[in-house]
Formats: sequence, structure tokens, C-alpha cells
Amino acid sequence: MPHHADPKDSAHLPEDAGIETRAIHAGQAPDPVYGAVAPPIYQTSTFAFASPEQGERRFAGKEEGYIYTRLANPTTRMLEDCVASLEGGHAGIAVASGMGAVSTIFLGLLSQGDHVVMTDTVYGPSRLLLEHDLSRFGIDASFVDTSRTENLQQALRSETRLVFIETPTNPTLRLSDLAACARICHQAGALMVVDNTFASPVLQRPLERGADIVMHSTTKYINGHGDVVGGIIIARTAELHQRLLRARIYFGASMDPHQSWLVLRGLKTLPLRVRAAQDNAQSLARMLEDHPAVRRVIYPGLATHPQRVLASRQMEGPGSMIAFELAGGYEAGKALMTRVRLATLAVSLGGVETLIEHPASMTHAGLSAAELEATGISPALVRLAVGCESLADLEQDLSRALDSL
Ligand SMILES: *Cc1c(COP(=O)(O)O)cnc(C)c1O
Repeated sequence: MPHHADPKDSAHLPEDAGIETRAIHAGQAPDPVYGAVAPPIYQTSTFAFASPEQGERRFAGKEEGYIYTRLANPTTRMLEDCVASLEGGHAGIAVASGMGAVSTIFLGLLSQGDHVVMTDTVYGPSRLLLEHDLSRFGIDASFVDTSRTENLQQALRSETRLVFIETPTNPTLRLSDLAACARICHQAGALMVVDNTFASPVLQRPLERGADIVMHSTTKYINGHGDVVGGIIIARTAELHQRLLRARIYFGASMDPHQSWLVLRGLKTLPLRVRAAQDNAQSLARMLEDHPAVRRVIYPGLATHPQRVLASRQMEGPGSMIAFELAGGYEAGKALMTRVRLATLAVSLGGVETLIEHPASMTHAGLSAAELEATGISPALVRLAVGCESLADLEQDLSRALDSL
């Protein structure tokens, strides 16, 4: 018997270990072969069996152990166990991208004739997948503003199997009350899925508020370094985990071991990054609010945010995404995006670098003018994904560009 623990064993962690400790250690222990402290990359497609009998036992599910990387891989398993610990779920399922998480959830849990209710302003492709693709398989969907629970209540039907909520929404930072939505879903016999990409488990843990499944685009905060695309699903129960795992294995959206290792490395500093970026965002939101070139700032940490009370009840902080409208409209926004030097003009979010973009012409260009209007995405709106640079440098960069408008 090796004297080191199995890599997935985190029995050495105290039961009530803090989130910083779990982000660094959960699911990981020194490597059983050489004692490597950093998680090894098990870059292999397949695993040798000691005997034909062992292969038979593993295929029959009578013995724990690895068979083939699409099914399970030790490096990927460390990432899955770590995020499951942060979210407080049964287990994790790592997938190739955030959209791989969304599609695995739909394909694993929905059948012909089922109905889905979704937050109307979710990440664009999540909505398009239901509207244009799953509709071809006889799955119907309704899109409503779930920040008002009566809208969710009214949209439910007897065939509603799944409710998909994103909070805070992108880019308008509208919140849905997770505990209230979960009660409504469960009364109707529907499962509640939450896309927790924007908040990360540092700021919001939907399973604790009644959600059945949580998913992330790990491309964003969880990896945090803008260098990997990935996704993960965390189920609350073993039964849901098995159904989703089957979908991951058969539809084949498995995460690659090298990708898993990079995300696992980024994950270790998640709580530190999220708080550093949030501190920057809180100060920048106040600065923007006071600037004459800015008409309106949307940030859940400001007294002017209409859902500030809900934000402080269900989130541990307002996060690091800010949306703001310039007094000079889209032309002023374009000038601002041209004149900033430190903030980079790019979509995506959740990395250490600050990014700026224009939702109406970029991330949300797929919406019609009426849909943009209905969801509050005006042409004047600019989105800032705040990173971890020095606050003084970000302030100087933004204020210089704003002063020049
Ligand atoms: C980016 C994103 C996704 C999709 O993730 P990919 O990794 O790009 O496939 C899903 N949901 C939210 C909220 C996102 O920001």
C-alpha cells in the first residue's frame, strides 16, 4: 500500500475548512507515486489493467479505477472534486466548455415534449441553443424575466421539467431570488439549474439555496487567466450526477486532462482574485457614478442598484462586473473603448486582466432591437469586466479616457 493518500482523497482537510483552503486542497493530496505536491497531469487516453479479470471488474463497476479518459481521468477528477467542494454539491462533471455544460444538462435531462423556463437575459448561446436547436427535438421553452418571481410562476406548465436561471445577468446585472425560485420550481416538480459563472462559488452558492444543479463556464472566474475554455456541472444528488455523467460520456463533451490541470491551477487563487477584482470594481463603480460623462452605473454594490438588498442576502459581495451608460451615447462609448489603454477591448470576463466591451454590437448582437430594448441593453451601455491590476492605474486609465470625451 502506498503511504500517500489517493490523489482524490482530501480526508486531511478539516470538515469546516474555509473556502481559500478548499480552493487549494480539496480533491488533492500529494501524488501517491512520487509525492509531487503539484497535481500531476495524467495525459493519457487509456489506463492499463493488471489482468483481464481487473479489466472485467472495472467495466462491470465492481472495482474503482480508471479505464479511459472520456469516462474519467485522475487530473480531471481532482478539478471535479475541488469545485464540488466549493459549491457544496455531490460531485462535479468537467466538460470541454461552458456551452458543453449547458448542452450536457439539456441532453441529459430533457425528452421530447418537455418544456423549459429560462431567464430571458441568460448568456446568448444558452438561449439560442434552446430556441434554434433543442426545438428541433420537440423541446419547448419560455423566456421570462425571473427577477420577478410571478413571471416564473406564470410560465410554468405541467410539462415543465427544468428551470434555468442566471443571476446576476449579463450585462444588466439583474438578480433572481434563488431561494424563492427554488420553492416555486419544486412545487411544480421542475428541476432548477443555475448558471453561476458570473458570481463564482466565492460569492454565491446556489445549491445552498435550493438549486438542484449548478454550472460554470470555467473559462471565466474559475480558471481566471484568460487562457483556457472549459465548463463544469455540479449536481446536488448522486441520482442527478449519474444522469448527467452518462450524458457527458455518451455525448462526449469531456474535458481534456491538460485543460483540467490548467483550470485546477487557476482555481487555487479563485477567492483571492475574486475579492481583489471586487475591491477594484467597488471603487471604480463609485468613480464612474461621480463622473459627468457617465449617465448611469449598474453595479449591485451601489446604493442605486434596485436589488441591493437581495444582493447582500444571497451573495457574499457584488462581484466585479460593471455596466454603465455614457451621457454621449454609443459614439461616446466607442471613443471611450478606443482611448483606454490598460483596459483591453475584448469580450469574456473573470480573468486577472480588465476587459471592456460594447454589448449591443458585440456579445448581445444576436438580439433584435426590440429584445435589446426589453432587456435594458441600450446602445449607450458599456460593460467593464474588472480585473486585478492596481486600482490607481485602472482609475487613471478610465478617468483620462472619460475626461477626454
Ligand atoms: C461564457 C459564458 C458561458 C459559455 O461558456 P464557454 O466556456 O464560452 O462555452 C455560459 N454562461 C455564461 C454566464 C458565460 O459568461
